[in-house]
Amino acid sequence: MDIKKKIKALTDKLLEYSEKYYTYDSPEITDFEYDRLSRELSELEKQYPMYALPYSPTQRVGGQILQGFEEVVHEVEMESLQDAFSYEELEAFDKRVKNVFPDAEYVTELKIDGLSVSLTYENGILTRAATRGDGKIGENVTANIKTIASVPLKLSCPVKKLIVRGEVYMPRKAFEKLNEQRDMEGEHPFANPRNAAAGSLRQLDSSVTASRNLDIFIFNLQKCEDKNFSTHSETLDFLKTLGFRVSPYYNRFKTIHDAFEEISRLGQLRDTLSFDTDGAVIKTNDLLMREKLGKTTKFPKWAIAYKYPPEQKETEILGIQVNVGRTGVLTPLAVLNPVFCAGSTISKATLHNKDFIAERDIRIGDTVIIQKAGDIIPEVVKTIKEKRPSSTKKFEMPSVCPACGEQVVPDEDSPVLRCINSECPAQLLKNIIHFAERDAMNIDGLGEGIISRFSEEGLISSAADLYRLKKADISNLERFGEKSADNLLVSIENSKKQNLNNLIYALGIRQVGQKASKILAARFGTIDALIAATKEELTVIEDIGPVTAGYIREYFSNKKNLHFIFRLKEEGINTNYKSDLKDNRFEGLTFVLTGTLSGFTRDEASSIIESFGGKVSSSVSRKTSFVIAGAEAGSKLTKAENLGVKIIDEAEFSRMIQIQ
Ligand code: NAD
Repeated sequence: MDIKKKIKALTDKLLEYSEKYYTYDSPEITDFEYDRLSRELSELEKQYPMYALPYSPTQRVGGQILQGFEEVVHEVEMESLQDAFSYEELEAFDKRVKNVFPDAEYVTELKIDGLSVSLTYENGILTRAATRGDGKIGENVTANIKTIASVPLKLSCPVKKLIVRGEVYMPRKAFEKLNEQRDMEGEHPFANPRNAAAGSLRQLDSSVTASRNLDIFIFNLQKCEDKNFSTHSETLDFLKTLGFRVSPYYNRFKTIHDAFEEISRLGQLRDTLSFDTDGAVIKTNDLLMREKLGKTTKFPKWAIAYKYPPEQKETEILGIQVNVGRTGVLTPLAVLNPVFCAGSTISKATLHNKDFIAERDIRIGDTVIIQKAGDIIPEVVKTIKEKRPSSTKKFEMPSVCPACGEQVVPDEDSPVLRCINSECPAQLLKNIIHFAERDAMNIDGLGEGIISRFSEEGLISSAADLYRLKKADISNLERFGEKSADNLLVSIENSKKQNLNNLIYALGIRQVGQKASKILAARFGTIDALIAATKEELTVIEDIGPVTAGYIREYFSNKKNLHFIFRLKEEGINTNYKSDLKDNRFEGLTFVLTGTLSGFTRDEASSIIESFGGKVSSSVSRKTSFVIAGAEAGSKLTKAENLGVKIIDEAEFSRMIQIQ
């Protein structure tokens, strides 16, 4: 792939991962992998700045505002931190600081793995709490923050105006309990305590937040109107006296070497803590020095976050289990002697595929090193050959599907084995789970656990059967009351109205993700038109390659699939695309929003633009057609002025969207 294409592909992928992580609190890859890809992109951008895209995630902090939350413009910007993965990188940071201030002193702190919030107090009373968002604009989560018992609602001393920054997190115990409960209720478990905390704080109903046992550590004084301080450590001591739960284990050091010794010591403590940490932060202590050192567009120059390598543990492989996924892929999983690692007990780890097992020569009975890199699915890093018992033999993947007994076939271009039996019960079950997911038919309350129970009871064998369920079928099951049966039936009924793109995605056609589903729905308008589309008609669509087109044709050439769609139609499921397009007056135009608008939230303004066929981008470039500047517009406005991009105010925008 040429460099330009590679940079574009990496940028797009990272933006997609970032949205899942920040906006939906549901990461698709590990943080470790994300950081690796992000570094790769930064390096390429540095080497080939002419190909760097203006909307690159390396230029941006955090996520977008969720619909339903009021936007808050931060009085003091909430920056991210530059990260370091080695002592050499810390030394380079030290050099940059000491070149300007040879006497600079450092403070070390644990880096709490949660989400950043700012709390504003006026005359000693908590008046506002906001998430970081993109650093400049966050979400107003005051009602939710008030449910956290350790957040003082009234300070012990009525300071005139005080803004502090802290990290909301979910203690490990609360996280394990929440996931156990979600598992029982058939809900998707959260990937890690960070995502659980973010998902819990960004709830429109604060009673849900209250039930999640969140906690907070305060780590910075952003602003204090009636008091002056000269060092960061003084501010932390002061915040303690006001009643805040301040970041634990902070310490002062003269040299980077001593600071590094301390953060290595803190690293040893990780396992014993009641909360997750993903690193330690080194900050210059003197506040005037901080001001003089300043910042880049994204990071302060006076601080750096050292990320700990993923935690690793030793354990034994008791057995290897082979799972069958939705598309028939066989995935080997190591069943482990349970071991506590990175905050939770691990009893399974992925072995990916047959090549992974062969390359590392992984066998049942082996002692292995496992790691929970970004905390999604733990993996086996290596086997310790010296500890191998004499009787082990090489593991062979099965030649038949463990769920249905049919012969499995190897994929042409990957080390994957696949069951191609369309009746395979494991695949059918996973397909139903996928069908019900939020981005598909969005059947609220119908998770993996409940679907498995319905299937075990013989109530469903295909997603179409869901629409035939009766109240008595459900309420007779153990642990199901009348009320939960009613709620579930309402969710199933509501799912019939989902748009065509959700339905296409719900079908689970290979390589047809959400984006492709939307393109297909908009292009063909009805499921029947899509079914009738030829491979040539599909291939000419931008973003649908010949391989995907082949999978789409293969899906709709299968009689069983057509019968399934026929049954869905009979149940009254919507198969037409409802376009949000009012008219296409903004076709081909790209808008960027900056500052605060008084009449719309950002989400509202964005969906209005899209409903007229326009695009909304998060960053300004020469290609931007209009920048809509609200109150307190920041750097995007300056950039637009420099590039000569047309700038309009809210009144002008309101005129442009008037329906004639
Ligand atoms: P970051 O989490 O690496 O560091 C900055 C944050 O650290 C600050 O916002 C602050 O809230 C927090 N923090 C905690 N304790 C602190 C302390 N004592 N002092 C100062 N700050 C403290 O940076 P980020 O910009 O929030 O996010 C990047 C992270 O998100 C990376 O780890 C990345 O892997 C992850 N990410 C993952 C995915 C994915 O798909 N897995 C996607 C996007 C981002």
